[in-house]
Amino acid sequence: MYQSEPEPELNGRSVFTPRGRVLGGSSSINGLVHVRGQREDFDAWARLGNAGWSYGEVLPYFRKSEDQQDGKSEYHGAGGPLPVSALPDRHALCDAFIAAAGEIGIPRNDDFNGEHQEGAGYYHATARSGRRASCAVAYLRPVRKRSNLCIQTGALVTRIRFDGRHAVGVDYQLRGASYTLRAHREVLLCGGSFNSPQLLQLSGLGRRRYSLVTAFRSCCTRQVSVKVSRIISTSALSGSARNRSRSTTRWLQSRVGSRWGCAMSCCVAAP
Ligand SMILES: Cc1cc2nc3c(=O)[nH]c(=O)nc-3n(C[C@H](O)[C@H](O)[C@H](O)COP(=O)(O)OP(=O)(O)OC[C@H]3O[C@@H](n4cnc5c(N)ncnc54)[C@H](O)[C@@H]3O)c2cc1C
Repeated sequence: MYQSEPEPELNGRSVFTPRGRVLGGSSSINGLVHVRGQREDFDAWARLGNAGWSYGEVLPYFRKSEDQQDGKSEYHGAGGPLPVSALPDRHALCDAFIAAAGEIGIPRNDDFNGEHQEGAGYYHATARSGRRASCAVAYLRPVRKRSNLCIQTGALVTRIRFDGRHAVGVDYQLRGASYTLRAHREVLLCGGSFNSPQLLQLSGLGRRRYSLVTAFRSCCTRQVSVKVSRIISTSALSGSARNRSRSTTRWLQSRVGSRWGCAMSCCVAAP
């Protein structure tokens, strides 16, 4: 868990910032909401000179990654490693929220990964049969026995080693001891949006100060979304032992309920 420095752009507020320090990273603790980036963002990046990043060019990779329970379509893939499902549960509060959005002119949207993202509706989740599909579950677990893959948990990388402008290895700590790994070919840095730049800074690269707001701006410039989660999901999780046991029983019987918290949510997105 991190707490940001007071952010000048946020009126001096400090932002609570959880991160998944676990196999699968933050995809192992996230809200499971499957809403891909917005067409206009990708196209803007391509216009800025980033070849290969237009929506039309990245869509085939999104489709390839997905195993959409409703099957293949122009915007969705089937048979990929990442299960994507419609939420199995509906709730009167979410229905009322979506209806209220309609009353003020926000269109109903039952697929935020379809032709348009604007609107209000239930979103899809990276889960199947009530179980989370983290990156570790979708991508790592199927290949973890490969002879050319070594997974080292509990290791903290402290520096990337460079030979001139080329990354040639990393230093890391594990159970109180320090190690260096030399790369035969390349170093791929995927420590997440906060720890990747931090590691670059620790290695002597990049800005001295990295603002949280700058990070958000650079990842998402257009999409705004508001999410409503069914109140029972949090109260059941944090409630009495009896409540928790009841919600676990419900999950075991039907694979819906607070153990799959986002199964009860909807959102409104605006470009
Ligand atoms: C609470 C929360 C809710 C979210 N909800 C959603 C959602 O509903 N839908 C959605 O699409 N996205 C959601 N996100 C965002 C999404 O999970 C992230 O965008 C995504 O996981 C980023 O993937 P990543 O591989 O870039 O980084 P991460 O998932 O953060 O993975 C980075 C990995 O690198 C490891 N690491 C970092 N530094 C070091 C180091 N120095 N040494 C060794 N290992 C290191 C970390 O332990 C972690 O395993 C949420 C995120 C959070 C935190």
